[in-house]
Amino acid sequence: MTDTRTQAHIDQILAKVHDGGRIDYDEGLLLYRYADLLDLAEAANARRQQLNPGNVVTYLIDRNINYTNVCVTDCQFCNFYALPGDDEKGYVNSKLILGNKIKEALELGATRILMQGGHNPDLPYEYYLDLVGWIHEQFPTIEINAFSPSEIQYIGEISGKSWHEVLSDLKAVGLMGLPGGGGEILDDAIRKRVSPKKIMTDDWFGVMKVAHELGLTTTTTMVIGFREELEHRMNHLQRLRDEQEDSLKRFGNAFNAFISWSVMIENTPLERSRFADEYGATSTEYLRHTAISRIFLDNIPHISASWPTQGAKVGQTALHFGCDDFGSTMIEENVVSSAGAITKVSPMMEPREIHRQIRAAGFIPAQRDTAYNILKLYETPEQEAELKSIDDVVKRAKERDNWSPVTLVD
Ligand code: SF4
Repeated sequence: MTDTRTQAHIDQILAKVHDGGRIDYDEGLLLYRYADLLDLAEAANARRQQLNPGNVVTYLIDRNINYTNVCVTDCQFCNFYALPGDDEKGYVNSKLILGNKIKEALELGATRILMQGGHNPDLPYEYYLDLVGWIHEQFPTIEINAFSPSEIQYIGEISGKSWHEVLSDLKAVGLMGLPGGGGEILDDAIRKRVSPKKIMTDDWFGVMKVAHELGLTTTTTMVIGFREELEHRMNHLQRLRDEQEDSLKRFGNAFNAFISWSVMIENTPLERSRFADEYGATSTEYLRHTAISRIFLDNIPHISASWPTQGAKVGQTALHFGCDDFGSTMIEENVVSSAGAITKVSPMMEPREIHRQIRAAGFIPAQRDTAYNILKLYETPEQEAELKSIDDVVKRAKERDNWSPVTLVD
């Protein structure tokens, strides 16, 4: 229960948001701590309308691909990786497997692949250039978004090249953008505790700055629930907003979207720690965080809901907490699934189901590309008859015995 003076201050800040004004760090913190959840939703929706007016919610048809799970970084929240030499669990996808995955995605109407992997010491610099170049040559219509900042930093380390050289070389062979993975909490106090060997905050933003300079498409992520304080979350948001401002001013290119979710810890070292019960975040906390992010990040155009970690229903609810995008079909998810996310049961949401979720929440679905250009607006449900079904893709995958990507669906 807030006292009258605090509530009056909160009302004043919320009114400023409704009028299109920017809020500062302390105001964000005050809202985060004390504002009524539904008042926050209303203000977040107002911000959404200021940035993306109307009733359209976008989504992307894409596929996540984890080209290798071999990694030397030992993040405390990861159950996906295998150490070098672990031949039972460790893998590097062959081109045959990668090609099949991309073909299946294209059959479903995908316009993008999002490719990320571990920090694998056995893969030389040329591997990455060959991988991206080969995909671009074989599948010229698909957008290649690959390698989060921590992978770029690692590739730079093993090759002795600068981030600028690595990203320029990758761009030259077909890379179009970088996913914002590995952001977690961008505050070193938390990173040093849960992922001390992974990229730190300055370098994460440093890699993204180069990507912005080179005209690559980027998004940014945030994961809550590491036993961080609200101040750590606000530090992340403040740094992000400042960096966004700087990139926009210097390059006219910056993050086009933000997405957050809560940490999954099943079968990870965090689950085995004595603080296990304190990790993670409730759905209410996720929605509160989503609303605060939308309000505070007034220079990042789009906010995506996260159905893979929060579930379809909470993802759908997030559309009423300022999100204007429902994320993507994914088709495959291995990282958070290994740590207990909903995608462990079903790693994809087919376009038809995404449409159903968006419409049921009261919005109009539209397929977009990575840069958030609308590819097709589906004003009426009748237009949805043309959407491809996953059944065909499953059937074809089952006919091939080398790999069946969607066996978890049935
Ligand atoms: S989260 Fe990524 S960097 Fe960390 S251990 Fe897992 S695969 Fe490696």
